[in-house]
Amino acid sequence: MDRLGAERTVRPIPATSTLAVVGAGPIGLEAAAWAVSHHWDVAVFEKVRVGHHICQWGHVKLFSPFRMNHSNWGPQLLKCAFPDLTLPSESACTTGSEYVQRYLEPLSRVPGLSERIFLGAEVVQIGKEKLAKKDWIGDAKRTQHPFRILLHNGNTEFIHKTRAVIDASGVYSFPQSLGSGNIPAPGELQAKSEASSHLHYGLVDLLGQHRRQFEGRKTLLVGGGYSAATALEAFEQLVQSARETKVSWVNLSTGEEPYYRFDNDPLPYRDDLGKLGNRLAAAPPPWLDYFAGSSIEEISRRPNGDQGTFEVVINSQQGCEKLEVDEIIANVGFMPDNSIYRQLQVHECYATSGPMKLAATLLGGSPDCLAQKSQGIETLRNPEPDFFILGNKSYGTNSTFLLTHGIKQVEAVMNHLKGQCI
Ligand SMILES: Cc1cc2nc3c(=O)[nH]c(=O)nc-3n(C[C@H](O)[C@H](O)[C@H](O)COP(=O)(O)OP(=O)(O)OC[C@H]3O[C@@H](n4cnc5c(N)ncnc54)[C@H](O)[C@@H]3O)c2cc1C
Repeated sequence: MDRLGAERTVRPIPATSTLAVVGAGPIGLEAAAWAVSHHWDVAVFEKVRVGHHICQWGHVKLFSPFRMNHSNWGPQLLKCAFPDLTLPSESACTTGSEYVQRYLEPLSRVPGLSERIFLGAEVVQIGKEKLAKKDWIGDAKRTQHPFRILLHNGNTEFIHKTRAVIDASGVYSFPQSLGSGNIPAPGELQAKSEASSHLHYGLVDLLGQHRRQFEGRKTLLVGGGYSAATALEAFEQLVQSARETKVSWVNLSTGEEPYYRFDNDPLPYRDDLGKLGNRLAAAPPPWLDYFAGSSIEEISRRPNGDQGTFEVVINSQQGCEKLEVDEIIANVGFMPDNSIYRQLQVHECYATSGPMKLAATLLGGSPDCLAQKSQGIETLRNPEPDFFILGNKSYGTNSTFLLTHGIKQVEAVMNHLKGQCI
């Protein structure tokens, strides 16, 4: 029994469904919640746990308020199922963990939906029964053949068949490489396999779980987005109590103000991060060395050295420089995993690796993620009928995705499928 009174049982995965959803992150769950509230036969396959990617950066505060992070139908289902449950206030900017614990997990326990979620079930690949990738190109006739999903669950593998698929598997499991041009720097792959506890891809809990590993030590921080700014914000606090802490910040951006700021930004915490990044870049304090217009050339390990775990060569505006550091934080973005739909007809953007039509509407648009055009069904369709890539993965390497866009995508796709009497 859990705190909401629901019981998690180990259920056999059904052989078929009408709609299969890959991933129980916010967008996969919202899609499944919509399906359940319309009495559809849905199955959600999640490789680890509900909100698994968000749990990995659970200490970070979201910069969108809760009202932008949920659908209309999710809270309605929750209200019916758990009348005593209190959701975060609509204006609250929760942390990732609070969002998972107070919204996603309760949603996943709603009777009718909870039975349709299969945790520990990883989607390995998706194809079409008795149909090759090259057959019937972009033809609606492909719907006559069900999707075949190869699932990996514990030690077993088996096939699930379904009529439509939503891939909402996110990007956080596939960080980009550190090296210049986003290919691995010489030595990076070896460091990753031999010193993974010191080479961190993604967000690190610098003031909590990982504090001891960073205080009083030398860190190389690579990146110029909001994740890097979040790390800098934490380092600024960390140095107050651990004055020997040093950070070398390597950023590809050459601008004097690396963070673009939006007029009267409606997301105040995003603006605070941008301001902080620009302030530290303009006048680095003693604990920080800032390398603008720089990239990573080479990484080597110093296993027995007393001056740091890694020796890193950077290509800076002054030429090549050597840094000795104990820890490396790579905040250089993520890539979608396209291997799961390799045998389907998906037209990918050559610049972002997102689905082409959506990428075309996003490229060249405003840098402000709030100012994006609506992503109607036409931008979400693939040559493969009834296969949709939604949520963070639909943006590929473009980092402007917001949950509010994903929720609108879900609405567009579900209404489209409903129109087809799925
Ligand atoms: C640090 C950070 C802060 C962010 N802050 C905000 C914010 O303030 N506001 C906002 O709107 N957005 C924010 N985002 C962007 C975005 O909203 C989140 O990344 C969000 O988690 C995306 O939701 P999703 O459902 O598309 O994917 P995810 O949350 O990434 O969920 C994907 C799920 O799929 C599972 N999965 C992956 N592969 C498989 C597979 N093969 N088989 C089965 N399951 C699989 C994963 O385990 C995961 O549970 C932030 C992102 C980051 C990284």
